[in-house]
Amino acid sequence: MAAPAESIVHGSQATLRQLPSVDRLLRLPAGRALIEQHGHTLVARQCRDLLEQLRQQVSAGLDVAQLEEPALLEALRARCVQALASPFKRVINLTGTVIHTNLGRALLADEAIAQVVALMTGPNNLEFDLHSGARGDRDSLVEPLLCRLTGAEAATVVNNNAAAVLLTLAALARGKQVIVSRGELVEIGGAFRMPDVMRGAGARLVEVGTTNATHLADYERAISERTALIMKVHTSNYAIEGFTSSVGERELAALAQASNLLLACDLGSGSLVDLSKYGLPREPLAADMIGIGCDVVTFSGDKLLGGPQAGLIVGTRKVIDRIRANPLKRALRISKLPLAVLEATLRLYLEPEKLAQRLPTLRLMCRTQSAIRAVAEQVCEPTRRALAPRYTVQVVDMASQIGSGSLPVDRLPSAGLRIAPPLPRRKGAGAALNELAAALRALPEPVIGRISDDALNLDVRCLEDPSRLLSQLPALARTLAA
Ligand SMILES: *Cc1c(COP(=O)(O)O)cnc(C)c1O
Repeated sequence: MAAPAESIVHGSQATLRQLPSVDRLLRLPAGRALIEQHGHTLVARQCRDLLEQLRQQVSAGLDVAQLEEPALLEALRARCVQALASPFKRVINLTGTVIHTNLGRALLADEAIAQVVALMTGPNNLEFDLHSGARGDRDSLVEPLLCRLTGAEAATVVNNNAAAVLLTLAALARGKQVIVSRGELVEIGGAFRMPDVMRGAGARLVEVGTTNATHLADYERAISERTALIMKVHTSNYAIEGFTSSVGERELAALAQASNLLLACDLGSGSLVDLSKYGLPREPLAADMIGIGCDVVTFSGDKLLGGPQAGLIVGTRKVIDRIRANPLKRALRISKLPLAVLEATLRLYLEPEKLAQRLPTLRLMCRTQSAIRAVAEQVCEPTRRALAPRYTVQVVDMASQIGSGSLPVDRLPSAGLRIAPPLPRRKGAGAALNELAAALRALPEPVIGRISDDALNLDVRCLEDPSRLLSQLPALARTLAA
């Protein structure tokens, strides 16, 4: 039981005796309302935790006002809300990198989301052949589209491209040798290193050439009766510049064929349309690699393709059949959710004239600098008002990146806000920038920018709806004032 009301003296130190019981709090009208809303389990648990926390604070000296019942019930309500908040949040990507690996990579098309909702709220024909009524194969839902879009004879899909490479190597080269140029032994995202994947697949890596130069003769010399595969890896997240030499897929395809070997190509960020048609730097297409004579090509679903996390494997019927038959295929298979997204996304490619509008990643990459600058102008003044006088805000030209290992050296002309303390070189300016970046990250829809050149830069290329930023400026101002 709580202490009688007369004994509570405002402004004085609380004592343990004044803490009410869980039962008492939950029987009060506000407590009952919380239970009505969330059920007894969550509310009782939060109530016990709250009282335990207060018990410890009481011994450290706590104002008695915090033990009044309305204050306790408000604290309990806030705890329930907090306990139910998801740590997984939609954020606003103003980093200037369109396909940002840490921010979920490709944004999905409305058509793809609609298909997920339509298919996942009921049973579907994931592995059921509606024609024969017999068991079906999930690959068959996307294989015809992938073949049509890449010119390949056959296709299969797994969980991501790392899995696609692992499975391809395991199926085609376990216990055998795979020849790769030293200039292509890539590491992606800190955990995917070609030599390690090779080992994981039970294949032996034979490195040829040097970091900057590999010649056809290097490959030729490395071929032996133990060789299964020549592998070409697209060096997607870096570029070797200066004196370089590498052997193209066309020459390697001829060599592989003459030597009775297979040629595999890990494209990484395989594009399905010629990006130069949209005024963007050209990336190699999966169709190019198939046309040139690669036996198998692997690429990601959530990089330039603009779909879900997935690993796409296209190639000759014979090779794809071997890959499908490998037991790892079952372990690495794609789940129905991304498969539904992938199928709907691939279907968008059948109407290429509409693609730049429908595929968010492509739409963002195609945004003109003047359109981006207009957004920057629109958000500049309100942002300036919210941050004055601690920070200055100006519209400046910027350079966006495509990201996720695509086109590592190309930049897209962009614009955004450059935010800095009035004296950016003064001591404490760095701390002020970090404080601002933290306040932006703490918003209900966190805003992620990039600190460089003594400023916090917000590239607004990916800000399609400025109100998402504008509506949060009052909250930002409050956080910074606190
Ligand atoms: C990104 C990338 C991968 C890994 O693809 P995920 O879909 O992220 O698993 C593998 N190889 C290359 C060349 C890549 O660029």
